[in-house]
Amino acid sequence: MVSATVDSGALRHNLQVLRQWAPRSRVMAVIKANAYGHGLVAVARALESADAFAVARVDEGLTLRAAGIKTPTVLLEGVFDREQLDAAAAANFELVVHTAEQIDLLRAAATGVKFKVWLKLDSGMNRLGFKGAEFGAAHAALSALSAVQSPVNLFTHLAAADEPELATTADQLARFDAATRFLSGERSIANSAGMLGFAEAQADWVRPGLLLYGVSPISGTIGADYGLRPVMTLRSHVIAVKDLAAGEQVGYGGAWTADRATRLAVAAVGYGDGYPRNLGSGTPVLVNGERTGLAGRVSMDMIGIDVTELRRPPALGDPVVLWGEGLPVEEIAVWADTIPYELLCGISQRVAVNLR
Ligand SMILES: *Cc1c(COP(=O)(O)O)cnc(C)c1O
Repeated sequence: MVSATVDSGALRHNLQVLRQWAPRSRVMAVIKANAYGHGLVAVARALESADAFAVARVDEGLTLRAAGIKTPTVLLEGVFDREQLDAAAAANFELVVHTAEQIDLLRAAATGVKFKVWLKLDSGMNRLGFKGAEFGAAHAALSALSAVQSPVNLFTHLAAADEPELATTADQLARFDAATRFLSGERSIANSAGMLGFAEAQADWVRPGLLLYGVSPISGTIGADYGLRPVMTLRSHVIAVKDLAAGEQVGYGGAWTADRATRLAVAAVGYGDGYPRNLGSGTPVLVNGERTGLAGRVSMDMIGIDVTELRRPPALGDPVVLWGEGLPVEEIAVWADTIPYELLCGISQRVAVNLR
C-alpha cells in the first residue's frame, strides 16, 4: 500500500554535485541506518562510484559484504569486542578509534590483519573521541601497533555546522588543526552541513549523508536550492472519498471540524508506516500532484485529506504523495517539529522500498 520510491538517478546526480563542490576530496558516502531509510544495499549499489562507504555498526557493514559489495567501508563507531574485531578483519573494514579500550583490542588482535584506522578527535561535540592531550597519546599508542596501518588517519565530527553563524565550527576546526598539524595521514571532518558551510573543512575525505539523499540539513532551505534532487518519495493512495456537511468532525477525537461543505479523501498511510502522528491538520500532501492538506489526526493506517478545493476530484486509487518529488521532506519536518533525518529513517517495515 505505502511505498517509498528511491530514485537511483537522483542518488547518482547528487553524488556528482557533491564531487563538484569538493573536487579535491574523496567521498565517504554515509549509508548508516539503512541508508537513512532508503535501503542499504540498493543505495550502495547505486552509489558504487563512491570512494568509500560509512556505516555506524558492524552488522551494517556485514550486510554490504554479504551482498558482494567490496567498496572500502568505515565503521563510524568502531568495534567494541573481540568478536566484532575479528569480523571487521575478515570483512576488511576501516575502524574509527575513539576509546582506550578500542586501542587495547587492537593491541591484543591476533588476526594478522593491518587495519586502516581513523583516530577520532573530540573537538568539542563531546560525543565520541579523544580530547586534547589524550589524542596525542592515543596517536602514539596506535602508531606503534602492528595491527594498524601507518600512518594513522585523522577524524573529527562537527556539532553545529548547520548553524554557521555560531563560533562552534571555527573553534572545532582550530582544535582539529592544533591537534593534527604535525601529523601525517588522511583527514576527514565534514558531514553534509560542514560541506555546505565550510569549504575549509573539506579535507581529504568528506562524509555526506543527508545531501546524498537530496535533502538539506540547513533549516529554511531544501535540497533543490543547492541543485540536488530528492531521492525518496513516500506514496500511498486514496481508499475512500466522502462528502461532509459543515460542522461534521473527522477522525479520532474529532480534531478537525468542517467549516463548510467538505469533500474528504482517506488515504492509506499512518503512523504505522512512519508518517508521524504529530502532523497536524493543514500539513501539505499531494493528491494527483495537487497540493492540499491533512484534516484531522493521523491514525495508525490512515489519514484524512481535505480535497474540496482540488481542480480534479479524487477517485479511489488516486496517488497521494506524503513527501519527496514535489513536496520537500524538509517542509514536512517543520510540520512534524523534527528534522528530515528522522522522517527518512523512520519509515517502518511495512513500507515497500522500491529502487527505480
Ligand atoms: C551520520 C554521520 C555523518 C553524515 O551526516 P550528515 O549530516 O547526514 O551528512 C558524517 N559523519 C559522522 C561521524 C556521522 O555519524
